[in-house]
Amino acid sequence: MNMIQNETTAARADLLSMTFEELREFLCELGEPAYRAKQMFTQLHRGTSPDEMTDIGKKLKAKLYETSEYKLPSIRRKLVSSLDGTVKYLFALGDGNAVESVVMKYKHGNTICISSQVGCRMGCAFCASTIGGKVRDLLPSEMLGQVIAASKDMGERISNIVMMGIGEPLDNFDNVMRFLELVNCEDGLNIGYRHISLSTCGITDKIDILAKKDLPITLSISLHAANDEIRSSIMPINKKWNTSALLASCKKYFAATGRRISFEYTLIAGKNDSISDALELADLLNRNLRSRTETMPIHVNLIPVNPVEESGFATSGKKAVEAFASVLEKKGIRATVRRTLGADINASCGQLRREDEKNS
Ligand code: SAH
Repeated sequence: MNMIQNETTAARADLLSMTFEELREFLCELGEPAYRAKQMFTQLHRGTSPDEMTDIGKKLKAKLYETSEYKLPSIRRKLVSSLDGTVKYLFALGDGNAVESVVMKYKHGNTICISSQVGCRMGCAFCASTIGGKVRDLLPSEMLGQVIAASKDMGERISNIVMMGIGEPLDNFDNVMRFLELVNCEDGLNIGYRHISLSTCGITDKIDILAKKDLPITLSISLHAANDEIRSSIMPINKKWNTSALLASCKKYFAATGRRISFEYTLIAGKNDSISDALELADLLNRNLRSRTETMPIHVNLIPVNPVEESGFATSGKKAVEAFASVLEKKGIRATVRRTLGADINASCGQLRREDEKNS
């Protein structure tokens, strides 16, 4: 069970990180009947604190206050795009650290992009989240808390989740797995695995473990280069697991789950965005993922790089992006260009937290 270290008590039970079974056991230990768990679980996951619950008595509230913790992230900053309604939150956690979440409005519903760690230790050269390194992992309750707090603030249901915010989800594996289980829970937010995407820079041993769990989530791989030389120069993880090790795990993942994998490719002017880079990328993917008898569907999501002051990388022009996409298509690889949402509120992740740190 997850415990939160607290100044006043040695350790308090973290109610929002508990599975339904754990909550039932915990309440049983406090002398409560079994039906209490169901009653409370749903309310906790909708953003109601024990203190606000109208169907539990003062005595239980006092006991819970003594022994447990329920805290949603609080909104430190909120920006709303006047272009498309995208909402960006800078959430303050219980210990004063901050993470970002972005809610994007689509016709098919609201999608939230959440953070999985405070900072990141992966060191990708183009990314704002990794500049100060990793501070700590987020608890399951803190990931769930982002979804609950945003939904509560907007007064709207959130139906899709992408784990593409600050942090590397597979570097916080156990907490992320528990978060996925919690958010999928019927008595909780009930967000289906098919409505959840998880993005990784390529922690290959964890991809193998994830494959065995056979969850119908969508896996996104941040590839960003067509060969090991360029990939290692912008993504240090590639020195541990190179492109062939990574793609071998992707192939196994598809074989085990049947779920299509999406590849993220950030286009950086003069670094990885030429026609020959596109040809090399198509060759890399076709060679490693397909054979004459197997036609694994491959989807590449092209993202013109969001310039981060410290990285000095520049965005590829529209023409270069289109030319890159059409080379991939010609080679049998589906390519889409990421639509920019919230362009007026600096919506790419990590940048608001950086700004906040610089100013404090
Ligand atoms: N650690 C995970 C998820 C977080 S980043 C991962 O690496 O996949 C989410 C996506 O945004 C990744 O594909 C990441 O490479 C990309 N990204 C990070 N900084 C970016 C920037 N400045 N411009 C465009 N994409 C960026």
